[in-house]
Amino acid sequence: MVKETTYYDILGVKPNCTTDELKKAYRKLALKYHPDKNPNEGERFKQISQAYEVLSNPDKRRIYDQGGEQALKEGGGGSGFSSPMDLFDMFFGGGFSRHGRQGRERKGKDVIHQLSVTLEELYRGAVRKLALQKNVICEKCEGRGGKKGAVQTCPTCRGTGMQVQIQQLAPGMIQQIQTVCSECRGQREIINPKDRCKVCQGRKTVRDRKILEVHVDKGMTDGQKIVFSGEGDQEPDLEPGDLIIVLDEKEHEVFKRSGNDLIIRLNIELVESLCGFQKVIRTLDDRDIVITVLPGEVTKHGEVKCVQNEGMPMYKNPFEKGQLIIQFLVNFPERIPPEVIPALENCLPPRPRVDIPELAEECQLMDLDPERESRRRRAHHASAYDEDDEQPGMNRVQCATS
Ligand SMILES: [Zn+2]
Ligand SMILES: [Zn+2]
Repeated sequence: MVKETTYYDILGVKPNCTTDELKKAYRKLALKYHPDKNPNEGERFKQISQAYEVLSNPDKRRIYDQGGEQALKEGGGGSGFSSPMDLFDMFFGGGFSRHGRQGRERKGKDVIHQLSVTLEELYRGAVRKLALQKNVICEKCEGRGGKKGAVQTCPTCRGTGMQVQIQQLAPGMIQQIQTVCSECRGQREIINPKDRCKVCQGRKTVRDRKILEVHVDKGMTDGQKIVFSGEGDQEPDLEPGDLIIVLDEKEHEVFKRSGNDLIIRLNIELVESLCGFQKVIRTLDDRDIVITVLPGEVTKHGEVKCVQNEGMPMYKNPFEKGQLIIQFLVNFPERIPPEVIPALENCLPPRPRVDIPELAEECQLMDLDPERESRRRRAHHASAYDEDDEQPGMNRVQCATS
């Protein structure tokens, strides 16, 4: 049981989520709320970043789970957070803001887009067309923003982009306030309105719609990046950054992916579990495969088997595939007519002898009410129960009702 769930709630995950689930949640939210996409959600972006920073670090996550935010503040595992942008850059390896990185030629921002893909597409490979808007250098003015010579250094800020205002608060007390230059809005230069380029209105770049073909290769994975070098936004005097497509694997209703393996749950009837069966499974590339359990072999409830080479194709080596892992779930009948029981008992292994002690007390066996049970659990949660207790409890409920 964790002390508080705020960080988990910010990322929209459960407190018992895996590292992969955390990464996926951060990836989705960070891309959605990045200031480049959502300039008004700066605070949200910061919260997402802080939540991920804590939960992705096993030590910090443990401290947080035990003592909440307070425990983190009290010096468990260092104080303070990384800048949300640094974390983002680290996560995506490169990232949006690479302005003026020293020692290399100046490069514009990378642009990151998320592309939702189905498991079928990752299995078979696919070509997806993507319509994107991007900034390109204005052809009319060749990125100058106006006629040749129309661009002047801003006289108000003398090309610094900043203005310093001095306020006298009291005699002898002076306050300096630095603000973005109101004349050039921090651009360091101005263009006389009458000389301004009519096409880009002096912005030097224009928005352009571009259709991009994204090749999704067989076996690619959730979170994998496809980089289009130099296809990011263009800016004058900068080498354009990259366009990065991040794949986002949609959940499949039948197959669950685990690395290169595929996992399915297959319901079988009790008669099939005891007497053998055949089942047809439709693969992700629409083939039908047949699995057979011969008469004489019993398939137990929850038993797991696998089919080699029917999992996901390996990336760059698609003729190799992972395994298809099948978990069998047995549908037990609700009731059995009492008159058939003697015949049934004859076929089954004998029941064990039960000796009832003389003083044994007779008790009544009742169905468990799952709602009442969970209410009781919640009430006790704070003290006696922790998260792990919930799993066996859930199983008991399922067994009782199936
Ligand atoms: Zn200025
Ligand atoms: Zn122009």
